[in-house]
Amino acid sequence: MNGWDPTESEAPIVDDTDPRAFAMECRRVRQVVFLYTDNEMGQELLVAFREHLELCPHCLQEVQAAQRLLTLLRARCARRAAPEGLRLRIVRRLTGGF
Ligand SMILES: [Zn+2]
Repeated sequence: MNGWDPTESEAPIVDDTDPRAFAMECRRVRQVVFLYTDNEMGQELLVAFREHLELCPHCLQEVQAAQRLLTLLRARCARRAAPEGLRLRIVRRLTGGF
């Protein structure tokens, strides 16, 4: 995570794999990763997003980690939701009806 040194920005960058342009792309991917995991990404962005993942193993890892995290969270939340009967009993007890 070395931020590029602005004092070096005068050096001409002619490489077609310009690391600054690539870094911008990665930052954008990370900004929209939750749109992807929530299936709320527009078609146009989705295509660009997938293209980037094919070229960038780092972002692919980020996305996979985010997906795993989300799957985990959803599984836990689902397990934590009590059945309606139990919920009513708890509410009744909490409101003094024991
Ligand atoms: Zn990337």
